[in-house]
Amino acid sequence: MDFELTQEQRMIRDTAREFASEVIAPRAAHLDETEEYPMEILKQMGQLGLMAISVPEEYGGIGADTVSYALALEEVCKADAAVGTMMSVNNSLVCQGLVKWGTPGQKEKYLRPATTFQKIGAYALSEPQAGSDAANQRTMAVRQDNYYVVNGAKNFITNGGVADFLILFVRTDPQAEHRGISCLIFDTSIPGFSAGPPERKLGIRASNTCALAFENCRVPLENRLSEEGEGFKIAMHILNAGRIGIAAQAVGIAQAAFEASVKYAKERLQFGVPIARHQAVQMMLADMAVRIQAARLLTLHAAQLKDRDQPYAQAASMAKLYASETAMQVTTKAIQVHGGYGYMKDYPVERYFRDAKITEIYEGTSEVQRMVIAQHLLKRPEH
Ligand SMILES: Cc1cc2nc3c(=O)[nH]c(=O)nc-3n(C[C@H](O)[C@H](O)[C@H](O)COP(=O)(O)OP(=O)(O)OC[C@H]3O[C@@H](n4cnc5c(N)ncnc54)[C@H](O)[C@@H]3O)c2cc1C
Repeated sequence: MDFELTQEQRMIRDTAREFASEVIAPRAAHLDETEEYPMEILKQMGQLGLMAISVPEEYGGIGADTVSYALALEEVCKADAAVGTMMSVNNSLVCQGLVKWGTPGQKEKYLRPATTFQKIGAYALSEPQAGSDAANQRTMAVRQDNYYVVNGAKNFITNGGVADFLILFVRTDPQAEHRGISCLIFDTSIPGFSAGPPERKLGIRASNTCALAFENCRVPLENRLSEEGEGFKIAMHILNAGRIGIAAQAVGIAQAAFEASVKYAKERLQFGVPIARHQAVQMMLADMAVRIQAARLLTLHAAQLKDRDQPYAQAASMAKLYASETAMQVTTKAIQVHGGYGYMKDYPVERYFRDAKITEIYEGTSEVQRMVIAQHLLKRPEH
């Protein structure tokens, strides 16, 4: 394994780092407090290429690799994990399926404007009864002439309230279980579509999360992504790659909490010395650093496997599982290092702690990641 970064990888990481520290970080606490959607920041990121890092240049992206994407996302999430959520949804959940399965017309109409965030996309898989059990889709799409008529509901959809289009998973065959699921590109201007109010959340509060409803929505056949019955395969393929992004998000949150802790430990005096001089505090900082580095290496390893066209689903699940648990552990310790001040909104660590939790839940909970890892372990020949 070689993690010597290329010039391009360093350049993309540094672009993200600079933008994140100069533009995003100063506004992060305000966005968290007000739950204001950071539209202007996201559009600027679109102009910089950060919303479509791995999308080929011919479709408007910057055509870089997954390692570059993970590095850039870590930097953005270090500044604000809510902004990072939209960056990860756009780069990964929205653009990747269109790159792989979109027709030239679909790419022109949806992918190209999504790369610069001129059009906002969302990925709509989860339903009230279909969370971890994502194959239990009940949103129905019934074919009538050259249309699908869609009825149903989606739950907890990031960008759902601001999206111009959805990567929408629907059931086209009630009998065929996961093979009866298809994927549509759904224009949110279609009559019968509605988005609920933004959910009020523990963390990543500036991200928009909504329930969606579909009542007799007519979607042209030409808006189907790939063949009928391919939807579940598409959904899982996109999520496997997406998990590398959530791992990077978790690493970014943990790194931010760690850096804040080191700074605070050097400044805060107790018993006449900076608390960094107390061994118990040093132990906490050391444990944080080790876990973050391990999580980062797992993340970059999964990204590198993907870039080399090698199987990466298990590595992506391992990275997401370990990095998200790291983010929880490190942010908890970060509050401990800050003592009572860490519990207050005057310091950023309580936000990092709240933001970290989502990484153990979306794009597959930690339990689902363990299931994926175990499935891979058990299907391997014994040696
Ligand atoms: C802020 C936010 C943003 C989101 N954004 C999106 C989005 O953009 N698009 C989208 O489609 N979805 C999105 N989601 C949905 C998210 O992917 C689901 O919440 C997640 O997959 C878990 O589903 P659930 O909430 O229904 O929990 P459940 O599946 O009901 O799980 C509850 C608990 O049971 C456990 N569990 C369930 N089944 C098993 C099992 N077989 N074995 C062991 N344990 C099990 C889970 O691990 C968990 O601990 C978002 C969610 C949130 C909170």
